[in-house]
Amino acid sequence: MTGDPAATNVVYLDYNATAPLRPEALEATLDALRSVGNASSMHHPGREAAARVDLARRQLSALLNCSPGELIFTSGATEANNLALRAAYARGGTLVTTAVEHPAVLETARTITADEPCSLLVLPVDEDGVVDLEPLLSAVRHRKLALVSVMIANNETGVLTALAPIIEAAHEAGALVHTDATQYVGRLPLDLTELDVDLLSLSAHKFGGPQGVGALFVRRGTLLPHRPLLVGGGHERGWRAGTLNVAGIVGLGAAAEASRLQLEHDAPRIAGLRDVLEAGLTSQMPGCRINGARVPRLPGVTSVTFHNLPADAVLASMPHVAASDGSACSSGAPSPSHVLLAMGRSRDDADSTVRFSLGYGTTKSDVEVALDAIVKAVSHVRSALAATDGA
Ligand code: PMP
Repeated sequence: MTGDPAATNVVYLDYNATAPLRPEALEATLDALRSVGNASSMHHPGREAAARVDLARRQLSALLNCSPGELIFTSGATEANNLALRAAYARGGTLVTTAVEHPAVLETARTITADEPCSLLVLPVDEDGVVDLEPLLSAVRHRKLALVSVMIANNETGVLTALAPIIEAAHEAGALVHTDATQYVGRLPLDLTELDVDLLSLSAHKFGGPQGVGALFVRRGTLLPHRPLLVGGGHERGWRAGTLNVAGIVGLGAAAEASRLQLEHDAPRIAGLRDVLEAGLTSQMPGCRINGARVPRLPGVTSVTFHNLPADAVLASMPHVAASDGSACSSGAPSPSHVLLAMGRSRDDADSTVRFSLGYGTTKSDVEVALDAIVKAVSHVRSALAATDGA
């Protein structure tokens, strides 16, 4: 996996941080890297590069059931979120989002409203991570809203948001709706003719494409102030200047295609494996708590709190299982998960939570090996702590 021989035995359960590159995406990316051509050039190699980008755009649009012309390629979901929020906020009015968004939304929202903090409304969630709509329903009556941005699936817990009532309320109030679908795309079916959002962000590496490439969907006809983050050569219809990352985009397209073809089979299979993992954990360690277990979640995610056992110690005691304490983006930082705190967990519980995320390559044997390793790691950390306490 990393070139480190010890790492070849690793059971990889961190698909929400990044998924392994799908073989189809690897082949397509390598093939594109081997060929020359700037997708804006008019000569033959340039036209070939443009044709590869067109194919990728069609492959992604087929996964989302949208039109290829509604997609802007970006460097990932962080850029797509920034682009969506900054442009939509320029409409004027309040920006509404939730307390459990990824920092790529939450920090962007805080930054762009910093001069007018009262134009930011952050919706709370309940103990299951479900968004409380009351403040939104009240805000639509009293304020002009620019944008409502609510993630469709949470990266730490996998908890899904029923977007329909949010979209209805926001549209009635004349607001645009954005969803960060980074963890959802390629994992559950998504049909943009049915899900009436105006803007949607995604990132290729969460569904088996390369890192550093993603897209923003902008529904045709959306009145979005033209506020590109990168200005220059007018690429992507003036929304994102800069030579296109042809190989990355091609890899994204191939991963989108493979996901579309395998999703129907994979989603229930992965959910089944996640359920086996959870059943094993809760039966062997009755004290642990699965966050968001009572509400609909992504198939492959489980967020487990091992009360009073620091997550970093548990992870360090099972080096052959790759999982994450909190989200990868905030790991390394000393602050506890803002998602778990928003769900009412204590700081100690947030610090004792491990996220396992399964995906298209996860097997039954991976889950069996991981389960055994987790139970041993938890028992090891518990004994070590007891010994320290007793010393
Ligand atoms: N949104 C969510 C929900 C995510 O999980 C991530 C990646 N952790 C991002 C946005 C940012 O994606 P990227 O790093 O690819 O820009």
